[in-house]
Amino acid sequence: MSPTITDTHIDRKLFEYRPYWAECFGIAPFLPTSREEMDALGWDSCDVIIVTGDAYVDHVSFGMAVIGRVLEAQGFRVGIIAQPDWRSTDDFMRLGPPNLYFGVAAGNMDSMINRYTADKRIRSDDSYTPGNVGGKRPDRAVIVYSQRCREAYRDVPVVIGSIEASLRRIAHFDYWSEKVRRSVLMDAKADLLMYGNAERAIVALTHRLAAGESISSIRDLRGTAFVTSSLPPDVRVVDESSLPDERPAGQVRALRMQQPDVVSAIRLPSYEQVRDDRALYAHASRLLHRETNPGNARPLIQSHGDRYVWLNPPPIPLTTEEMDWVFERPFRRVPHPAYGDAKIPAYEMIRFSVNIMRGCFGGCTFCSITEHEGRIIQSRSEESILKEIQEIREKTPGFTGVISDLGGPTANMWRLQCKDPKVEASCRRLSCVHPTICSNLNTDQKPLVQLYRNARAEEGVKKVLIASGLRYDLAVREPEYVRELVTEHVGGYLKIAPEHTEAGPLDKMMKPGIGTYDEFKAMFDQFSEEAGKEQYLIPYFIAGHPGTSDEDMLNLALWLKENGFRADQVQNFYPSPMATATTMYHTEKNPLKRIGRESEHVVIPRGTRQRRLHKAFLRYHDPDNWRLLRKVLTAMGRDDLMGPGTDKLLPGFGHQGAGYGHGKRYQTFKTQHTGLPHNPRGPEDRTVSLGNRQGKRTGKKKSPPSGRSRSRQG
Ligand code: SF4
Repeated sequence: MSPTITDTHIDRKLFEYRPYWAECFGIAPFLPTSREEMDALGWDSCDVIIVTGDAYVDHVSFGMAVIGRVLEAQGFRVGIIAQPDWRSTDDFMRLGPPNLYFGVAAGNMDSMINRYTADKRIRSDDSYTPGNVGGKRPDRAVIVYSQRCREAYRDVPVVIGSIEASLRRIAHFDYWSEKVRRSVLMDAKADLLMYGNAERAIVALTHRLAAGESISSIRDLRGTAFVTSSLPPDVRVVDESSLPDERPAGQVRALRMQQPDVVSAIRLPSYEQVRDDRALYAHASRLLHRETNPGNARPLIQSHGDRYVWLNPPPIPLTTEEMDWVFERPFRRVPHPAYGDAKIPAYEMIRFSVNIMRGCFGGCTFCSITEHEGRIIQSRSEESILKEIQEIREKTPGFTGVISDLGGPTANMWRLQCKDPKVEASCRRLSCVHPTICSNLNTDQKPLVQLYRNARAEEGVKKVLIASGLRYDLAVREPEYVRELVTEHVGGYLKIAPEHTEAGPLDKMMKPGIGTYDEFKAMFDQFSEEAGKEQYLIPYFIAGHPGTSDEDMLNLALWLKENGFRADQVQNFYPSPMATATTMYHTEKNPLKRIGRESEHVVIPRGTRQRRLHKAFLRYHDPDNWRLLRKVLTAMGRDDLMGPGTDKLLPGFGHQGAGYGHGKRYQTFKTQHTGLPHNPRGPEDRTVSLGNRQGKRTGKKKSPPSGRSRSRQG
């Protein structure tokens, strides 16, 4: 182990490695999924086998294809075992033993989020499976697949990755079992875990293994974690395993006196401590989130019994040149032919869309994008993006001239970054835009406007839509950007995520106030009218987020009523692994601030009744909810909100429906649960959201957006 793990210098770019000898086999039309396909390629074995919970789609939005094609470009032979039957080892032995290692992934989503609703009900669908059929992967897929790989070939190393491994890399609260689980490394018994975007680490690892290094000796790769029974002697361990207020004074002073040039690793509270003590859990979560900037993050250590989970600092972001190289691998852009005509909804959603960047500096607490991809934006070049549009035009079956999205985790962060790399490297803020937009942030959206113009000028392109979530507090800074967007890139509806109207929950989400939404809406309406277009905003809201009181939900319901919205379906906040809001949910503490025994208590809507109530507020118009809401409004002393008349939230007793919905035009809309990926490209907004169709009505009436959908997870 060497302290140089904290160096931010890159010794080689992704495409500067000398290819492995097997490069002579050339490019595979599809990465092989059977012995027959291997034989056709002339391969006697695979160097790496990727086991994944998703169907194999050879597209840059699918993790197995990205990693497979990146390793192929290094000269390695990569096989894919997609959605194997986990009940025996047969499928895991289908391609024979890999020469170097098994790479195990749950898929583009955490397998528990994929399988269960926010109310822990089992899903019958799975958008990453042909035919949208649920049940094709096990719960906790990373652990199960790893065990089968071991059973199949005991001596082959196992490397785990994907969002599931990434967000379960240390002890974490698991919503489905309602307990704190160990790092997934311990349960999977894997040799190495890769977190975040893993190209840099996996390329270096594979070349080193191919050169004869043992996996147990490879301990210096950024973005990796492993289990060790002893700590290296050449690293100073800073003990943060107790709460700041409960540390001996001498220890605090010793930490402050450290020499700045000596590399330190941070000792987090142990698994046993965070399992038994919620304040320490919140403290550990805060420490982890403050160590996510690759420019200054230090290694983290968390003991589990008599062993340690060691987390190296996050990967260095890819340069634009490297991003282009990754996105320009020879993807076939379609599912593997073995799936025939069966539709894979996640693929259908992105087949005509283009991902222009990675990362997000928003820091929304219900979302894990920062913990996974980081908050430094990694942008592709305009040339590369336009080239992909041309490729869609040439190669993607069914293209009619409409690019369905030009975006990423956030629609409008392309090429935005801190003005000063030195300042960026030392910054520990969790968001560049909360509580206010940082003065060091470059917010210039002119290059993005130019990109939009050039994209729609491409031959064969009739329309370019922007469907990724918009950071509207950034957008309102540049009316010209909003004008361009609204005039040219809205397909009738634009989704936008105020998430709530009240300051309490918004503060806990790290989202801007509703005033910024109003500002954006005014611009949206004005530019839509100027363009002579009937267009609607689709605002999303979260029910049951930490920090939300019954009063807050009542106020949100009043806002919905006042603005003429009716939700067809609603869902609650979904506590996903490692998100800051999940820490709030579990601990009732606020890790955005220093944690102490007496530090801020966060209100948590918990339990079936209160979660039902919060959903009921969002569906205040549904007679099935009136009984509950009447009781609660009476208890809140708000009988004035019930009775006949359009100014009331609910009809009173004996006024079933009277006064509700008369004299005012209400719009119906369905919930969109953006906490769950239907787009495999981006992050998970961990939100439960409401779409509405309120907007400028300048012409013929349009149909409202409808249908519950699941959005993306990194
Ligand atoms: S200084 Fe400001 S813009 Fe730069 S990284 Fe920190 S928060 Fe972001």
